[in-house]
Amino acid sequence: MFENLSERLSGVFDRLTKQGALSEDDVKTALREVRVALLEADVSLPVARDFVKAVQDKATGQAVTKSVTPGQQVVKIVHDELVHVLTGDEDPGKLKIDNPPAPILMVGLQGSGKTTTTAKLAKRLKERDGKRVLMASLDVNRPAAMEQLQILGVQIGVDTLPIVKGEDPVQIAKRAKTQASLGGYDVYMLDTAGRLHIDEELIAQAAAVRDVANPRETLLVVDGLTGQDAVNVATEFDDKIGVTGVVLTRMDGDGRGGAALSMRAVTGKPIRFVGLGEKMDALETFEPERISGRILGMGDIVALVEKAQETLEVEQAERMMRRFTKGQFNMNDLKSQLEQMMKMGGMEGMMSMMPGAAKMSKQMDGAGIDDKMLTRQVALIQSMTKKERANPALLQASRKKRIARGAGMEVSDLNKLLKMHRQMADMMKKMGKMGKGGMLKQAMK
Ligand code: GDP
Repeated sequence: MFENLSERLSGVFDRLTKQGALSEDDVKTALREVRVALLEADVSLPVARDFVKAVQDKATGQAVTKSVTPGQQVVKIVHDELVHVLTGDEDPGKLKIDNPPAPILMVGLQGSGKTTTTAKLAKRLKERDGKRVLMASLDVNRPAAMEQLQILGVQIGVDTLPIVKGEDPVQIAKRAKTQASLGGYDVYMLDTAGRLHIDEELIAQAAAVRDVANPRETLLVVDGLTGQDAVNVATEFDDKIGVTGVVLTRMDGDGRGGAALSMRAVTGKPIRFVGLGEKMDALETFEPERISGRILGMGDIVALVEKAQETLEVEQAERMMRRFTKGQFNMNDLKSQLEQMMKMGGMEGMMSMMPGAAKMSKQMDGAGIDDKMLTRQVALIQSMTKKERANPALLQASRKKRIARGAGMEVSDLNKLLKMHRQMADMMKKMGKMGKGGMLKQAMK
């Protein structure tokens, strides 16, 4: 088995002294291990190299939180970056299948799991989306493949186009289109022929089918266990046929899922689904977090990341509180507070957590806090310059006007915000004066 990346990293970091921030050397040492882990997970070398470079730039100089080790922190940064790279703009599970009948072209090498995936997807469309689906096999060279689709169709209760001997793939595609229109189907799926390797005939055939069917989606099915080969296959298919998404099969196996990262990085195509077994319901929408955890070889990565995040927040809050009690409370602090409030369920949620809050909320009455306002108040603060945020007293009438306009609000709204800021700053100072065992300390617990 592969060594767990976090163990490996903690080994590296045990030898390093703890510092306030991740140094360049710390990060480099850690990333060497990350690179090895990526390669072991079957990520292609150029992709691993680029990836590590991106992480290095992000990680160097980051503050180290107290309760996680620098190694764990690097893992978190790596994880976040993995998710970032793996996540496309679109919702992976949402296929473009409006305007019935919508053709979906399935392409891929023989043995990749194309026929199985066609049926799995048909079942999903039928059951989840309530679509009427017609499936057709175009694999004229392998009658067994055509029969296989038919058998699966019966099993999942999805219609297949009757097999007519002697037709070529283009003829079958045309017939499927007609049948889908006449039969009132929402979607028709064309399961193209596969070969063991990509060859010209295979590509020419798929291209001819594409030209008559005009597919809304062209899904490439690749075996997730084939690692780097899968990327070559994907590049080739995308260049020649043009794919709109990828389905990675056999992700239930021992593979580490690195193909997903390479695939995404090299082709830029979204991974839509993953196959997780031979059964008809073993198809899931692609989840970047899961694959990321798998590539890093740590099942608990998500929990770890969340913990690290929480710690970071608590530490930030502590730092902030220390400053507040010294009477330092600027617009940036107010902005963080407002954002925190939004996270904690608005003003009410926030107040219910603070001792002495009743008094505070009464004082701030009329300051214009309501939950819908929070977002707009943050926008106002964002329109201020750095200097103005640090010292809002600098704001002159003309600047106020511009800021309010910049945030799509009135000057009176800005004045309300400034008033609220003053009140909160006063409040903080008073609370601070109550001393160490005072209200703030309790509020932090
Ligand atoms: P095709 O030649 O690309 O159409 O491949 P098939 O759909 O016939 O699949 C080949 C084999 O892989 C079959 O035995 C499938 O049951 C199996 N298979 C397909 N997808 C998966 C998957 O996600 N996980 C596992 N474990 N097996 C799969």
